[in-house]
Amino acid sequence: MDATDFRVGLLGATGAVGQTFIRLLADHPWFTITEVAASERSAGQTYREAVNWLSGSAIPEHVADLEVKPTEPDALDCDFVFSGLSSSVAGEIEKSFAEAGFPVISNAKNYRLQDDVPLLLPEVNPDHTALIDQQEWGSDGFVVTNPNCSTVGLVCGLRPLMDAFTVEAVQVTMLQALSGAGYPGVPSLDAVGNVVPHIGGEEDKMATEPQKILGTLDGDTVEWVDLPVSAQCNRVSVRDGHLACTSVRFEEDVTPADVEQVLRNFQSPLADEPLPSRPDPFIQVLDAPDAPQPQRHVDAGGGMTVSAGRIQECAVNDVKFVLLSHNTVRGAAGGAVLNAELLARNERLTPAPVDAVGSPA
Ligand code: NAP
Repeated sequence: MDATDFRVGLLGATGAVGQTFIRLLADHPWFTITEVAASERSAGQTYREAVNWLSGSAIPEHVADLEVKPTEPDALDCDFVFSGLSSSVAGEIEKSFAEAGFPVISNAKNYRLQDDVPLLLPEVNPDHTALIDQQEWGSDGFVVTNPNCSTVGLVCGLRPLMDAFTVEAVQVTMLQALSGAGYPGVPSLDAVGNVVPHIGGEEDKMATEPQKILGTLDGDTVEWVDLPVSAQCNRVSVRDGHLACTSVRFEEDVTPADVEQVLRNFQSPLADEPLPSRPDPFIQVLDAPDAPQPQRHVDAGGGMTVSAGRIQECAVNDVKFVLLSHNTVRGAAGGAVLNAELLARNERLTPAPVDAVGSPA
């Protein structure tokens, strides 16, 4: 075992996001899934028996034969946990793991807005990891969250613009993929040939989360940025990929050419970090007049690159453009894996010593 060999537990392992974690971690150079946990319905079965596996690729062998454990800290032997738990149960369960000393890298919404919990997007606010030092769970445990899947693409596009200019207001119309609703998700008769102009809680999350994510670390707190975001969220009949039709008002005179140049030239703070899931590029700007499209561009950078295009003058605000991000990779499991890689790189995560745990599984 060396400093990057971690034994990973997966909470909510049988869910849609849990399955994406398993797929993304199948050949991960640092992280090996050694524990899978889910509800009482699944506990005690092998993972293969418990899961309704949705991917076209096979379940990785070393995971398929693991016994699904109850979601209790005493039941798991690992260095940290990823949580793909449903938000109806994530609050209490993640708390119990943090209190028991586990780092919890979560996808759920429960702790996102808590003052001492980083709402982390490594290319956007890596310094917010400092909030971990403020957490008091009575142990070395901590919680780090990632943003809502619809917020992710938007803030990736806004970070470069906010570094270069003063952004006064944002209007965004979201066209969101069906996979964002989990499985089985939206009933087929609502989804096929239809658009549902309501996704519960999503517009509020898009108005709130960017203010924290794009906020400034000041000592031991994050000063939220005062940024009005007016979002309209629609569920569309697309499998993967959230499209954000975005219009931005600036304090300065900013042209579409300025926006394009800033998006093309943005230097991610991770550019020199050897993190296995770091996409290169972080943002790709596409020239074709009909790009980006979910079907053609959602898998760029293994689903971690955000695509931008259609950069034009806006008759209402100043500049409008389209952003595309993969909702279950960049917007969920892949984002959480990158969060964990950054934390490992910064020695916020540490593998247990070999003599304390024996050989890694
Ligand atoms: P899901 O398919 O419903 O999976 C939920 C998981 O939680 C399952 O493994 C389930 O286990 C487990 N679970 C439910 N009740 C439990 C309990 N009482 N104790 C222990 N485990 C329990 O949900 P999902 O779509 O994967 O979403 C998971 C989380 O990620 C949610 O908080 C969601 O908001 C967030 N998220 C989802 C997306 C997305 O694109 N889908 C994007 C960003 C964030 P059983 O199979 O045993 O019931």
